Amino acid sequence: ALHTERKPDWIKVRLPNDPKFWSTKSMITDLNLVTVCEEAQCPNRWECWGQGTATFMIAGEKCTRACGFCAVKTARPDALELDEPARVAEATKRLDLKHVVITAVARDDLRDGGGEHFKNVINKVREVNPGIIIEVLTPDFNDKDFALELCMSARPHIFNHNLETVERLTPIVRSRAKYQRSLTVLKKAKAMAGGKVVTKSGLMLGLGEKEEELYQAMDDLLAHDVTVLTLGQYLRPTPRHLPVVEYITPEKFDEYKQVALDKGFRHVASGPLVRSSYHAADFRPELDLI
Ligand code: SF4
Ligand code: SF4
Repeated sequence: ALHTERKPDWIKVRLPNDPKFWSTKSMITDLNLVTVCEEAQCPNRWECWGQGTATFMIAGEKCTRACGFCAVKTARPDALELDEPARVAEATKRLDLKHVVITAVARDDLRDGGGEHFKNVINKVREVNPGIIIEVLTPDFNDKDFALELCMSARPHIFNHNLETVERLTPIVRSRAKYQRSLTVLKKAKAMAGGKVVTKSGLMLGLGEKEEELYQAMDDLLAHDVTVLTLGQYLRPTPRHLPVVEYITPEKFDEYKQVALDKGFRHVASGPLVRSSYHAADFRPELDLI
């Protein structure tokens, strides 16, 4: 284990050298959209944008929560923009995306937590871009069934909600979220879709979790019908955020991937730079759906 603030070599990020990166960037700016790629300072943005993939963050860029790992601003959010569904849909078309990831800040200020806005965005994307695979990465909606139902009624192909960390560390890593509640939300989402949705979750490693705690989290996710898992290295966005306790080696990530597959996950992405939406399009959910 490396207990250091210096990043190991395997965390180094490629510089942009693909013109597609810059055209994606200017189109996203033109349409006045927010991407989690930029807001979360994702280390893969040169690569993903170069390939024309992006994760759109809807419902504003100010969050009602303040998770210790997250670079998104905590502030009172603005009113929802009613033309946002159309702008996201337009972007998926202009980028010719085959797979889009749509996520949102936690809108605890709204009665439905943004559930209806998710529904509107999903419906508009499908209308403008039929055949596209739609993945949502949602907050927990405070476990309000009607809010989750609004989102699921638009039939996303993949429902992703991140556990982020192991049970013991949840109170210090995630603001207001609860480990068990996140598991419950994942299970309910699948049930609401009559099983016809792929459920997916992810954890950041290097926050001080122990191996057996990670294995417990894998077992808990499987017990709540989750079939796709992502594991990545936690990187500290600023010195005000939680410190990195450990840099997990690429070999260890490979080992965890094998353990997860052996335990029963259908698809696992595991590596230092893996993020929830990294290479999301490599996984074809239609193969898993009946
Ligand atoms: Fe954006 Fe996700 Fe790629 Fe990061 S991994 S750049 S958030 S699409
Ligand atoms: Fe970030 Fe937490 Fe807000 Fe999600 S809920 S955007 S992780 S602060």
